[in-house]
Amino acid sequence: MSFQLFGLPVSRGVAIGRAVLVASSRVDVAHYFIEASQVEDEVARLRVARDAVATELSTLKRDLPADAPGELSALLDVHLMLLHDDALTGATKQWIHERHYNAEWALSAQLEVLARQFDEMEDEYLRERKADLEQVVERLLRALARGPASSFAPAPGVSPRDFAGEDPLVLVANDIAPADMLQFKRSVFKGFVTDVGGKTSHTAIVARSMDIPAVVGAREASRIIRQDDWVVIDGDAGIVIVDPSPIVLEEYRFKQRQNELSRDRLARLRHTPAVTLDGERVELLANIEMPQDAAAALAAGASGIGLFRSEFLFMNRGGELPGEDEQFEAYRTAVLAMEGLPVTIRTVDVGADKPLDRMSAHELRHEHVLNPALGLRAIRWSLSEPGMFRQQLRAILRAAAFGPVRVLLPMVAHLSEVKHTMEALARAAQQLDEQGKARGPVQVGAMIEVPAAALVLRSFLRYFDFISIGTNDLIQYTLAIDRADEAVAHLYDPWHPAVLQLLARTIEQANAAGKHVSVCGEMAGDAAFTELLLALGLRSFSMHPSQIASIKERVLRTDARRWASHLDAILGAEDPERQCQQTGEAVALALRTAEIRVA
Ligand code: PEP
Ligand code: MG
Repeated sequence: MSFQLFGLPVSRGVAIGRAVLVASSRVDVAHYFIEASQVEDEVARLRVARDAVATELSTLKRDLPADAPGELSALLDVHLMLLHDDALTGATKQWIHERHYNAEWALSAQLEVLARQFDEMEDEYLRERKADLEQVVERLLRALARGPASSFAPAPGVSPRDFAGEDPLVLVANDIAPADMLQFKRSVFKGFVTDVGGKTSHTAIVARSMDIPAVVGAREASRIIRQDDWVVIDGDAGIVIVDPSPIVLEEYRFKQRQNELSRDRLARLRHTPAVTLDGERVELLANIEMPQDAAAALAAGASGIGLFRSEFLFMNRGGELPGEDEQFEAYRTAVLAMEGLPVTIRTVDVGADKPLDRMSAHELRHEHVLNPALGLRAIRWSLSEPGMFRQQLRAILRAAAFGPVRVLLPMVAHLSEVKHTMEALARAAQQLDEQGKARGPVQVGAMIEVPAAALVLRSFLRYFDFISIGTNDLIQYTLAIDRADEAVAHLYDPWHPAVLQLLARTIEQANAAGKHVSVCGEMAGDAAFTELLLALGLRSFSMHPSQIASIKERVLRTDARRWASHLDAILGAEDPERQCQQTGEAVALALRTAEIRVA
């Protein structure tokens, strides 16, 4: 039976495929297809891992101290039994044989199937055995990681191939940590749905950066949708249709084709300079998470990197942070890839919904820190770890010897933070000089994403070469709305007059001081705001590479001067969104009238 679920549209487009349900804790498992000829090798990997775990468990049992409680030995027996149960390893082999999943994926797919069966059991004792099953699977995954890697695992930055003849797949999960989203750049999924998350949560941001249709905050999706269900993800409307009828399916296939045509049309704008109707030149920059993304930025026609979220280099590392040389290589890769165009590297912005280790938003909020968005994050964290911070600054300064680099500081709110950062930068440069290592000049800028920084902008501007407005956090902190919390997502409103007023004064003051200002939050890549931002005097926008063409199209159609003459009415309106729509109609009419007069 067909039914619909509603969530938040976070990444545009339509994806149609069979659902793959993945437990939140297992999203980080590699998902890729293997060749038919590799099936036996992959099954052998699984067998080796199973035998290793069997030895591990038997050794544990043999070495139990004589006075250990009898339950411990019984528990290990249960684990051994589960390990050899055909419902686990036998069925996992079937996923490898029939679907050509790699062993880790096959194992987590089977875990999901069995976990549901346990959840539905009446008997409480049996229901609780789910935890044992998870522990056994955890051991198997660890054993697989220790063993030889599959020769079909896609290399970093390489898109995995589709399994010929297989239906396309979409991922359904309760939540996906931002760190795990990185895996998706190397996965086979054509779209995804999560139960939780907000529109500008980092999970959503990474989905947009990959340009795959996604819906978050779809509440019960991972409970209601079943493994293998056909699912349509409408990333424009935030709708998920499960088991669609043939007519609905045909409608969405048509929409998919339309989207492709419009993408092709926009792609032709790649070499067209972004200039408004009244001749204002606009800079369109790209936001990236990994150095490999620079290629997509260049291909999309970006005139530089406006935001390199360096924290993604720090995630998924089991507590071990990247050293100076590793970071230097990553930054240099991005700088070289951009062929002389500027690269803005933001110093590490961990914390809030981007923890270093793999934690879901739920775990973060409820089990670790009371209010991570207001805690030790971004520049606060960097300044509390001076050795780590100088290491990053040294790596950035070294990369600057290979092309133009700008350093961007996240979440500054206090002048003392600015001063301490400048000292750290000077010290990092001095250390490099002492070591005789080459370094280049850098411009230093601040993210304006805390209302306090926007309010004291004049004194901040003296210290910086440029500023970049992080509207995602600026909205969160101005409206006191957790950007990752779907329960208050309806109140997360970029059109709120308070947000627009902060934006307006920040852009105006930066322009008046002759300091370069850009917006690198999601508003920059949302065409609904392009005219307004241009009217506010913004001439530099930074967004996901996939959004550049559609924003350029908007810029080319905008008369910034005419829009600016309506600015007071928009900023003073109770409903600025509506006022903006009316302005759009008025400006379009005026332009048509002017054309007719000329003709
Ligand atoms: C922002 O806050 O707008 C921003 C660009 O930074 P991030 O989304 O990484 O917090
Ligand atoms: Mg931010």
